[in-house]
Amino acid sequence: MARQFFVGGNFKMNGNIKTIKDIVSNINNAKLDPSVEVVIAPPSLYLLLAREHLREGLEVAAQNVFDKGNGAFTGEISVPQLKESNITWSILGHSERRVILQEDDQFVASKTKAAIDGGISVILCCGESLEQREAGKTIDVVTTQLKAVAEKVSDWSKIVIAYEPIWAIGTGKVATTEQAQEVHAAIREWLKKEVSSEAAEKTRILYGGSVTEKNSGELSKQPDIDGFLVGGASLKPAFVDIINCKG
Ligand code: PGA
Repeated sequence: MARQFFVGGNFKMNGNIKTIKDIVSNINNAKLDPSVEVVIAPPSLYLLLAREHLREGLEVAAQNVFDKGNGAFTGEISVPQLKESNITWSILGHSERRVILQEDDQFVASKTKAAIDGGISVILCCGESLEQREAGKTIDVVTTQLKAVAEKVSDWSKIVIAYEPIWAIGTGKVATTEQAQEVHAAIREWLKKEVSSEAAEKTRILYGGSVTEKNSGELSKQPDIDGFLVGGASLKPAFVDIINCKG
């Protein structure tokens, strides 16, 4: 069964009312490959703005969501609040949150479970540092991050995995097609062993880390690369070329 190609745009803490509107309008006016699932993730302040302006059929993701229902959690956003606002996805476990905000595997797993249980789909990020790669620990690190989720979540049908080597994020240093494919294949193998053959076959595994319109075509040809999570380039008009990279 072919997996639907998926392209996510992670705006991170970038943009303002005008630039978010411009980015959305550029996407709305472009001719997009209809076979690709497209999701954009603006900063939380602009989620409603993006949802209001983005054309139907394209989805909006939060960059994070909390694992508790509404209540006394200053600064957080809940699953029911996203749901009510028609924000259907959340990125979780991005390395910037794991490293800078010190989110651990358990917290990411707990938030993933809360999102899935509440009807929000998840772009679940994983990836190793340069030091971990050089120590030969890449597969270990990535599968440990995923295992924490597998211990709490059994239904992976609402999860898209994004493999994002930390050393490739925002650095212009993209993983080679071989390096990315190798890890993607290992993740699929892990899914088969630890979750189910169905999850291995159906779960989309995205690559993220300095993806541009120049390297997306080649990466997209790899058998286990089912799309991209795009940071910097998702703020540019060329994001559309990445969406259309399958040609
Ligand atoms: P980048 O970021 O494309 O700017 O490297 C990717 C990401 O962090 O999701």
